[in-house]
Amino acid sequence: MRFHIMTLFPEMVLQGLNTSIIGRAAEKGLLSIEAVNIRDYTLDKHKKVDDYPYGGGAGMLMQAQPVYDTWESIVDRIGYRPRTIYLTPQGTTFTQPMAKKFAKEEDLIFLCGHYEGIDERVLEEIVTDYVSIGDYVLTGGELPAMVLADAISRMVPGVLTNEESGSTESFEGNLLEYPQYSRPEEWMGKRVPPVLLSGNHQKVEEWRREQAILRTKERRPDLFEKAHLTEKEKKLFS
Ligand code: SAM
Repeated sequence: MRFHIMTLFPEMVLQGLNTSIIGRAAEKGLLSIEAVNIRDYTLDKHKKVDDYPYGGGAGMLMQAQPVYDTWESIVDRIGYRPRTIYLTPQGTTFTQPMAKKFAKEEDLIFLCGHYEGIDERVLEEIVTDYVSIGDYVLTGGELPAMVLADAISRMVPGVLTNEESGSTESFEGNLLEYPQYSRPEEWMGKRVPPVLLSGNHQKVEEWRREQAILRTKERRPDLFEKAHLTEKEKKLFS
């Protein structure tokens, strides 16, 4: 997986992503992350990349030319037009299934907007997917791009040391993950649920499944509606 992040703030993106699990995966060559500075591609002699929106209104808009030329330079370099994701509050809300789907691509371009956004004409020309990270407005697309890069990277084979941990956690089968405990067995008077100390693998699995269902029902009733449950579980927990 090769991420190409188009941004006005390359240091912000690189600093955020070159640490921990993602940084280690990049070092191992499982993925690569480049941040391409849109300002380097402006033809304006003062390096300007934004201007007033036609029709008036608050704020400035990123202009089409530097955005298009940045994108074209990436496309020319890699030799094809990859999926190009514009991070925008107007997009489809990002989910775990989307992370899995995007992880199958060889290259992904992320376009980070700033100010009031980007001239619509260049978006029509280059964007394949409009993705939001939630119903709120941020100052720029850098944090959303980092969120997507992180979640997608975890789904790239080999990035997580234990392949299991990517497939048993929250959102698998539309369920949240069960509660977890580590040592000591007792902390501030709270004991670890005895079943987890029993050594009975089947009982542990049953308990975890039940906890995952109960937790999802309580915390995310919207997700619970779509959870993959057996007929027996449906009767028991509805
Ligand atoms: N005027 C735009 C609107 O109302 O849709 C919002 C522009 S926002 C201030 C600046 C940039 O931040 C956007 O171009 C986008 O790249 C990014 N952004 C802000 N909120 C976001 C969100 N929830 N998800 C993804 N990107 C977001």
